[in-house]
Amino acid sequence: MKPSVEINGARLLKRLDDFAAIGATPAGGVNRQALGPQDQAARALLADLALARGFRVFQDPLANLFVRRAGKNEHLPPFLIGSHLDSQPTGGRYDGALGTLAAFEVLEALDDAGIETHVPIEVVAWTNEEGSRFAPGAMGSMAFSLGHIPGDWDDIKGTDGVLWRDALAATLVNLPAAETRPLGFPIAGYLELHIEQGPSLEKEDIPIGIVTGVQGTRWFEITISGQAAHAGTTQLSFRRDPMVAANAALHSLYATIMPEDENARFTVGRIAAYPGSVNAIAGSVSLSVDLRHPSSGNLDAIEARIVRAFQASALANGCTVDIRKTFDMSPAQFSEPLINSVEHAARHLGLAAKHMVSGAFHDALYIARIAPATMIFVPCRDGLSHNEAEYVEPEHCIAGAQMLLQSTLEVTGTVVIDR
Ligand SMILES: [Zn+2]
Repeated sequence: MKPSVEINGARLLKRLDDFAAIGATPAGGVNRQALGPQDQAARALLADLALARGFRVFQDPLANLFVRRAGKNEHLPPFLIGSHLDSQPTGGRYDGALGTLAAFEVLEALDDAGIETHVPIEVVAWTNEEGSRFAPGAMGSMAFSLGHIPGDWDDIKGTDGVLWRDALAATLVNLPAAETRPLGFPIAGYLELHIEQGPSLEKEDIPIGIVTGVQGTRWFEITISGQAAHAGTTQLSFRRDPMVAANAALHSLYATIMPEDENARFTVGRIAAYPGSVNAIAGSVSLSVDLRHPSSGNLDAIEARIVRAFQASALANGCTVDIRKTFDMSPAQFSEPLINSVEHAARHLGLAAKHMVSGAFHDALYIARIAPATMIFVPCRDGLSHNEAEYVEPEHCIAGAQMLLQSTLEVTGTVVIDR
C-alpha cells in the first residue's frame, strides 16, 4: 500500500553522507566521540538544517539536542523520535546517525507534505550514547529520565583526560542558536530507529525488526582462592587448585545455561591466574562473567545457578570463592501500544517485520522508564557495528525512515492536511 506520506530517500542518503564526512576516518568510518569537536560540528549542522527549515532548536543542560516541529496542539507533550550523533573512536557511519537523520527526514517529509500533526514532534540527539570517551554511556537519556544530573558524574574524566563537565560546557556554548530548556519534561512517547548491530535480520532477509525490549545485563567478578604450590612436586591429593575449580564450574555452566535457554547469554571474556607462573599451581583464579537475558526472573535463576556452581566446585577442590556483582541493568519491556502501532505501520507499508529483543543498550532503555517507547531495527551487513566497515543498504535506510514516519503518524493519531 502507498504510504500516507513519503520520505525523500535521496535527501536522507545525502544527509547520511554529509554527516559521515564529519569525523570521517580513512577506513570509511567515523570518529565523532561525545562532546568533542566533531560531535559539536555534527550538532551544529543539524541545528543549521533545522533552523533553515523554520523548526525550533533546543538544548538542555546535558546538551541533549531537540528539533521541534510545531503541532496543532502546542500545549500537549511532544512525541520524540531520534537517536544519537556521537560515535565510537573507530565507529561506523550508521550507528546513531541513521536514527537521528531519519527522524529529521520525518520532520522534513511532514513539512513538505503540509501535514499538521496533533502533537508537536521533536527530533532528539541524545548526548554520549556510546560511553567510549566518557563512561557511562547513554548519559543524556539517563539524566533526562532521572530529571537531574547524578552527583557522582562531576569528576568523570574522558579517556583523553578532559573533564566531562568542561567538554559539556564547551559543547553547550558552541550552539548559541539553540534555545535553552530544563532537563527532563513530559513527552508523549519515544521511537528510535537504529541498525540491528547483529546478524539476525540480514540472515533471515527481513528488512524491519520491531523491538519488544532490551535484555537485562549482570556482570560478576569471581575469584577462586586455593594454594599456590610447586607444579612438579605437589601430588594430586595435596593440591588446592583454583584452576580445577574454575574449570569444573565453567564446564557445567557452559554446558547448561545457553543450551537450555536460547534467550540466555553467558560469557566469560576475561580470566587470569595468579601468580601466573608456568611451573606453579595458581594461588587464585579471577574471571569475569557477563550474563544477559530479557527476563528478570530468569536472570535471578541463572545467577543463583552460577553462584551454586562456583561454591560447589570451590568446596570440592579445597578452595574458597568470592563472587561480586559489579553491574546490574534490569531488562526493559517496551510499550505494547507503541509496538502495535509499529506493527500496523509495517503492514500498511507491506514490509516484512519480526519481533526481537535488543542485545545492546540504547537510549530507548532509559526513556522507556518515563514514557511509552520502542525501537525499529534495520539490518546491517554481516551484523557488523562499532566498526568502520559498518554498512547498511540504502534501501534499508529508506525503509527504516519510512517506517519511522508511518509509525509516528500511527502513534500521534489522526493527521490534518493543511493544504
Ligand atoms: Zn547507537
